[in-house]
Amino acid sequence: MYEIKTQAFFSAAHHLLNYEGECENQHGHNWMVEAFVRGESLNKSNILIDYKVLKRELNNVLETLDHKDLNELPAFKGESPSSEMISAYIYSKLKEKIVQLNKITVWETQTSCCSYFEAD
Ligand SMILES: [Zn+2]
Repeated sequence: MYEIKTQAFFSAAHHLLNYEGECENQHGHNWMVEAFVRGESLNKSNILIDYKVLKRELNNVLETLDHKDLNELPAFKGESPSSEMISAYIYSKLKEKIVQLNKITVWETQTSCCSYFEAD
């Protein structure tokens, strides 16, 4: 198996619902997002997927989140836009464009991240 990964970034505000603590107050993050593609077969250029294509499609999805208040977006309306929900959202949107997508990891801080992937 091969696995490739690309990284991209977005900045946004959010607050958590049904949560007691600092994160119930609106605050911002500079999120790093990693998109993983897996596969066994390579194309004629011996690559799994062009990094440029993967990064372009990932950035198209992240543009819908960048410099937004995530709580106000239809995708998260009435929901707590946690890193878990954000990773699942990015996965579902990017999967429409990149069928070999295997996992999305969303880093909320330099040491804490959440990944979303489909069970086998
Ligand atoms: Zn937060």
